[in-house]
Order: sequence, then structure tokens, then C-alpha cells
Amino acid sequence: MPNKLPLTIDDNEYLEALRKKKTFPLHLHIDGSIPVGTLFSMAKKRGRVLKLPKKDANEQEISYSSEKERIIDSEEKLREFQYGLLSKYHINDVFDIPISFMQTRDDIVETCVALSHYLRTQNSPYAEVRFAPQYHLTQGLSLTQVIGYALEGLAKGREETGVTTRLIASIDRKVDVERAIDIVNAVLCFRNEVLGIDLACVENGNPPEKHYEAVKLTFGTQLKRTFHAGEMCSEEENLKNIYTSLTLLQAHGISHAIQLHKRFYRGYDLIEMMVRNGVRLESNPISNYNFFINSVADLHLDQLLDKGVFVTINPDDPAMWPQGDLVYGLYHLGKLYGLKFVDKVIRNSVLCAWGLKTEEKMSYLKEVM
Ligand SMILES: [Zn+2]
Repeated sequence: MPNKLPLTIDDNEYLEALRKKKTFPLHLHIDGSIPVGTLFSMAKKRGRVLKLPKKDANEQEISYSSEKERIIDSEEKLREFQYGLLSKYHINDVFDIPISFMQTRDDIVETCVALSHYLRTQNSPYAEVRFAPQYHLTQGLSLTQVIGYALEGLAKGREETGVTTRLIASIDRKVDVERAIDIVNAVLCFRNEVLGIDLACVENGNPPEKHYEAVKLTFGTQLKRTFHAGEMCSEEENLKNIYTSLTLLQAHGISHAIQLHKRFYRGYDLIEMMVRNGVRLESNPISNYNFFINSVADLHLDQLLDKGVFVTINPDDPAMWPQGDLVYGLYHLGKLYGLKFVDKVIRNSVLCAWGLKTEEKMSYLKEVM
């Protein structure tokens, strides 16, 4: 991407000060957040040989000098592979590795526990994490088993680490309408444990209205609805998808919304709609920077915050790119807009958390003042 400004860290003291702040990520995909070291040791323990894919991001053959060159034989090589997401390697190939370690009860539990340990290293006592149950069926588990095991793993992670995590179930938008309905029906079996649903993955060609029938099943239930919208398409399409998510799909949360600062879609004031309905913005600045924008300043999050939008800052898939940890997003935004901005977005995450009781929010708010 031309004119892309590098993400430079030149103030370590500031970074270290930010690390001391408690954070409350609300948008983080389990498969994109498992630390590389955990994945690599899981592979070793299971005697599994990980290999680089045969094809690149554009589905062209990659030429390797030997089969041995394909073998991912170190943690560093696995990290380098994950960091090649979309630029070098196809999204499916990159995510296939963590997902391949989440196909049995034990593996799902182990990865969820590892995620809790990761969150503790990030000074996050509470997080809302998500995964797409449909990706975890290759060894015969059912949708409800997969969701149940993830809940079990997160509960075990909480016991071990003290980190509370609540689950959101994502639907990969590429699936057909019937499949999305199956997924929502499985989620409804856990309506008291799962926080809500999400539409995720490739936005182009899969507009939010495609899954209206599935999403509608959650209307009138306590399940929350959050949607990836306004991330991957043209500006017009992005704004349209935000509008549709807010209106037809009755969103409680919108992720990404890269051009929300443009404010209007065909005369409809999207910012006003979000503020009026208390819809949280799950912004993922470093994720967007890697693929869709030149600078985190392009999101104009300071203006959105000033206009009353419930801006929250999130890591999305922290294991998948350099500076993936939430603290780096806060660093770059803090350098742009100041510490007051950072404190406000952290407070917003507490205020907008769907799995915290009022007294828990009050107690965390006191800590992050
Ligand atoms: Zn996401």
C-alpha cells in the first residue's frame, strides 16, 4: 500500500507505562490469539509436522528448493508464517494451523486455557472472545459440542488464571443461509452462557442482509448481536453494511467500521444511530492498519469519541501480525491523541462489556480511573 507509515515504537517508557494499565478486550478471535509458542509446543507434543502451504496468497505455486524447506521446524518460522497472512499466504492456510488444533474436546479446552494465560500476560482481567463453531467439526464434533467445550475451556482458563472470558459465536458469512440458521440454533442452546453472535470473515459478496433469517432468531432473546461491518469493501459498500447492521440486523456492536467517521450513508446519520442506540464500536486499529488503511489516524477515532461514539480498542487477532497485542494499538493511539484518549477507550470497554454486572463494572472503573 503506498504512503503507508511504519508503526514505530520509539518511547519504551510510554509503552511500559501502558502495559501497567488493565485492559478489557471485547473483540478477539480465539484462533488468531493463541500464542505461537503454544501452537508450536502442541504440534511437538502431538508429533505433528507443520508445513508451509504449496500455494501463496494469490493461489500461485510457491517454489521450494526441497520438501524439507516447507517444514515449520521452529517457533520463529511459525511466527513468520503467521505474519505472512494475506501478504504472502492465503487466509485459510494461515488460520488452518490454529484451527487444526481445535478439533477435539481436549484441544479446544487446551487452546482456550492457553488464551486465558495469554490474556493474563496482557493485564486483561476480563475479555470477550469469539470463535466460529463451524470451523471445528472436522473430527466429528457437533456444533453444540464445540460450543460446550469452548465454554468448558474458558471456565478452566479462569480457574487457572483468574481471567474471566465470555464467549461470542461467530458465523463465517460465506456459509449459506441454512447453515447460519443451524449455527444460531446451536448458540441458542447456550443462550445463558454465550454472550452473543457475530458475522465475520469475508465481507465482500456476503452483505449483512444475507443472514437476516439467522440473525432474526436472536431478536427478543438476551443474546447480543455484533457484526464485522465496514472493514473490507469499498467505502460505499462499507457504509451500507454498517447501516444494514444497525437497522435490519439490530446490532448492539459493530466491528471495524473503518469509514464511520464519514458519518452519513445516503443521508442517514450512522454516528447518531450508534450513539442513540448505545451501539459499541469494536475498533481494531492495528488489524486495519495491516490490511486496509495507511495509518491508524485514518480511522479518526478521536473525532468519533468526541461525538459520543462508544469507541473501544481491540486486538482482533494478536498472534497474526507484528505489534498484535492490544497495548500496541493503545500506544500508537496514545501517541496521536494523548493518555486521556487511552483512558477513555479503556473505560468504554468496561462500560460496554456485555458480560459484566453493574457492580463489577463499577469496581473495574475505579481501578482504571
Ligand atoms: Zn475480527
